[in-house]
Formats: sequence, structure tokens, C-alpha cells
Amino acid sequence: MISTNNSSCGLSRRDFLRMAAIAGLSPWQAALAEHRGTLVNDVHSALNPTWVTEIHHVESLSDSVQAITRARKSGQSLAICGSRHAAGGQQFLTDGVLLDTTQMNKILHLDQESALLTVQSGTRWVDIEASLNKIQLREPKPLGINQKQTGLNTLTIGGTLSANAHGHGLLLKPFVADVDSFKLINADGELINCSRHENVDLFSAVIGGYGAFGFVPQVTLKLIHRQKVRRMVQMIPLQKLGQCVEQSISKGFRYGHCQMNIDESSPGYLNEGIYSTYEPVDIDTPITGSEKQMTADGWTDLVSLVHSDKTKAYKDYVAFYQSTDGFINWSDVWQNSHYVNGYHQTLDRLSASKESATEVLSEFFVPIPQLETFLSHAREYFLAHKQNIIFSTIRFIEKDDETLLPWARERYACIIFNFHTAHTPSAIEVTMLSGKFLIDRAIDVKGSFYLTYQHLADKKQVLTCYPSFENYLALKLKHDPNEVFQSDWYRWHKKMFAQESSDCVPQKA
Ligand SMILES: Cc1cc2nc3c(=O)[nH]c(=O)nc-3n(C[C@H](O)[C@H](O)[C@H](O)COP(=O)(O)OP(=O)(O)OC[C@H]3O[C@@H](n4cnc5c(N)ncnc54)[C@H](O)[C@@H]3O)c2cc1C
Repeated sequence: MISTNNSSCGLSRRDFLRMAAIAGLSPWQAALAEHRGTLVNDVHSALNPTWVTEIHHVESLSDSVQAITRARKSGQSLAICGSRHAAGGQQFLTDGVLLDTTQMNKILHLDQESALLTVQSGTRWVDIEASLNKIQLREPKPLGINQKQTGLNTLTIGGTLSANAHGHGLLLKPFVADVDSFKLINADGELINCSRHENVDLFSAVIGGYGAFGFVPQVTLKLIHRQKVRRMVQMIPLQKLGQCVEQSISKGFRYGHCQMNIDESSPGYLNEGIYSTYEPVDIDTPITGSEKQMTADGWTDLVSLVHSDKTKAYKDYVAFYQSTDGFINWSDVWQNSHYVNGYHQTLDRLSASKESATEVLSEFFVPIPQLETFLSHAREYFLAHKQNIIFSTIRFIEKDDETLLPWARERYACIIFNFHTAHTPSAIEVTMLSGKFLIDRAIDVKGSFYLTYQHLADKKQVLTCYPSFENYLALKLKHDPNEVFQSDWYRWHKKMFAQESSDCVPQKA
């Protein structure tokens, strides 16, 4: 069995006290006890209740410039939020102004010839897909998106760009590869263009830079020719996954993912999975199986079942996937998924649970040949610590050689866990310690972790996985010396990097 060293894996005192304070009541109740402005929280984990002084729902470029200039003149700092799904406090600033982009949701321009689409940054993927379909109704060779996050359709383009997100491509780089250019309103309220030719340092820092360099009002995306694909589903032992992926790639498949068995009572627990790949077919091939797609009710029932009977839930999930084997649809449609904001509140109510709970996402990256080793550590650790996984999937990513803070430093397998977490100090600690433990196991095999979820990594872990983090902090101060743009995530990292600098040698990764 793997033991954990609590001194290296333990939460910082501040973090733990915060979590504990939150968890004594419910997060909302605890935060409400010290009312001072408007209370906001992240949508998925709900572990980031934050008081902000005011919220501006900006609607236009001039509106945004005015809000930023006003905040700067009055000495206030501000954070920027889209759909509020980041889970480490990247989109909120305690006692700061919050710029909410969700009203800036217009499709600005489609250049069919160059396959470029310009949208306002608060536009959600679901609206982009609907607009593209509408605009190109009679287009024989329509354009579509290359990749988006697959767990939900309501994330904004600004949020996607700031996390440098990924979808389920087999050979795709993170989102940066799909960005042609964007505009940025900097701390002085100036509007500047950022691309691979203009303000290149900002282009590479803002993508994956979590809102620290300014407000992105609009983004120009690179589109691809819309492609129809046939979903192919097979159950595989996970040690065969690397081989299966190679085979899929050699046949010209662009997309694929593997949903892992999360039933800890089964011998297949984190040992087998449902591997789905998508074979390109002729654009005139009719769409099939639309009636078998997961519905919102089906999604809700499955999420509910996985909380009460994992064995049956996983069986049903396998049966559902297998029933879609051979179905044909557009590749962007296959990237969509249902998600109900606040679904856990309903589950808590229906199960008459004493404690509120949510799922906490985390994601780790390892070289594909090391996947097996990493998963065997995870399996052993989760069983020993009774870590309850609600969902787990494996994706693939190509090396990102463009951004300042690349999470995909190599071609990696991306392992995603969604941990059920009651909002009690002990349950939150179990989840956070699992995350810290897995960061170390990823580092052992030259891997990394995703910054968009909880800020649980210590300085050594951050520096090992993100060797340019200090450059990121320095560049932020160069472009924004008065720190007009901040977030609790930024403050936490800045403080951590200001401390214990002499004793921190990054691990070899
Ligand atoms: C259920 C779920 C599934 C997910 N699936 C995936 C996945 O498949 N792949 C993946 O890569 N990630 C995934 N994520 C993570 C997600 O992509 C990121 O957290 C993303 O940043 C959230 O976008 P948002 O619109 O909610 O942004 P927010 O959470 O509101 O903001 C995130 C960051 O973007 C910044 N930001 C937002 N808009 C702007 C702007 N206009 N200008 C400057 N900064 C801005 C904010 O300041 C903040 O730092 C998932 C998250 C959840 C909860």
C-alpha cells in the first residue's frame, strides 16, 4: 500500500481553515455569516464562496473599458468571470469588482473563405454551434468547431481561452491551436490586438493565463470543415488503451476518449473502460441514432444512480454507450453533453442528506506509456482512502509549444476524476490530499496537472509542472504593475511564490 506523507501532502493551514470554516455549516451559510457585498460561488464544486463588492454585467466594448477605467481610478481591483466553472478561485476576487461577461454573447463575423469566426468572449459554445448551423443552413461544405470541453456546452469562449482548455481529440493541441487572435483591454483601458504577429508575448500569456493580463472582449476562432463521424465503441482493458489509440490514429480517426470503470466493487475498477473513437465518414452519410442520444432526464437519472448504486450505474452507462456503437453524427454534436447547474443540491434534497456535497474535478497528465503505472497508484490510493469517484475519463493531447504556462508540455494522456465530496472538513481534506498525492505520482512519471481546478499544489509542485510560473508572475506585473486584474487564485499563487523561495528546488519532471 502507498503511504502518504502528511507533511508534504497536507493542506496549507489557511486553506484548511477556510475549507473547515466553510464546511462547518454549508459553504453558503458560512459565508453569509459575514455579509459584505454580493456572494458568488463556482458552479461545479461550490467550494469557492466569495464576497465581491459589485458585479458589472458588461454588454459592450465601451462598457468594459469604462468599468476597467473606473475601477483603476478608484484604486479597486477586478476579476473577470464567464460561466463560473473554474474551481480554484480564478474568476473571483474577495472584496473586488467582478466583471461578468455573459451578456457579451454576440457572434460578430464569420469569414467563410478563411474559416475564421469572431465572437464576443461571453459567448457559450452551445450558442456558437447553434449560430453556425443557422448561418450555414444551405452551405454544402459547412464550417464547424474543432474542439470544445465535452462535459458541458455552456462554458464561455473567454473561460475556455483563459484555461487553454481541451476536448477529446486524439491528436489535437490545447485550445491555443484553435485561436487565430483576440483583443485585450489592458490595465490602462487600452484595446490591443493579440495574435501570432502582434503582441506575441501577450498572445502566449493570456491563453492559459486565467484573466491576469486584462479583459478579452472578443476572440477570433479557427474553424474546420464540419465532419461527420461514426462512433465506434469497445470495452477494453486499460493496458491496451495506448495501443488502441495508436491504431485509431493510424486509421485516420481524429477523436476518441475512454470512460473508466468507477465501480470499486468490480475487478475492472480503474482497470477497464469504454473506449469510443470516431471514424470519419462521407458528409452525405445520413445521421443515425439521434433518438438514442442521452437526454437531460437520462443524464440526471444516471448521475443520481451513480450516487446510490455504482454497480448498476456503470452497467447502464456501458449499455448506453454500446447502444450507440455505429451511430453517425457531426463530430461537434458528439462533443456535446448535458449538465444541470446545481444538480447536487437536488440530489442532496432527494436523498435527505444531512450534509451538502458536490463533485470536485481534478485532472492529471502523464505520458501515455506511464498511464498504467499512474492508474495503479490511483486505484490503490482511492481504495485505501475510500475516495468516491463519480466519473472518470481519459483523453489525449498533443504538446503545446505556444503558451507561457503550458500544461501539455509533452504528448500526454489526460486523466480526469470527479470526486464526490461532502462539505465537511474531513471529506474535503480526503479529496484535496488525493489531488496532492496524484500530482506527485504524475510528477514521478514526468507528468503534470491542470491549474483550472482547486489550487492545491504547493510551490514545488507548481514549479515542477509549470517551470515558467515565475516568468508568468513577472510578466503580469510588467503589464499590470498596479494589479488592476486579480483573482483569489492569482493572490494565492503570488503569496506562495513570495514565500519559502530558497528551499524550493523543483522536482525532476
Ligand atoms: C463539469 C466541467 C467539465 C469540464 N470539462 C472540461 C474539459 O472537457 N476540458 C477542459 O479543458 N476543461 C474542462 N473544464 C474546465 C473549464 O474548461 C474551465 O474551468 C473554464 O475556464 C471554465 O470556463 P467558464 O466560462 O466557466 O469561465 P470562468 O470559470 O468564469 O473563468 C475561468 C477563467 O477565465 C477567465 N476569463 C473568463 N472570461 C474572460 C475574459 N473575457 N477575459 C479574460 N479572462 C476571462 C476568468 O478570469 C478565470 O480566470 C470543465 C469544468 C467543469 C466544471
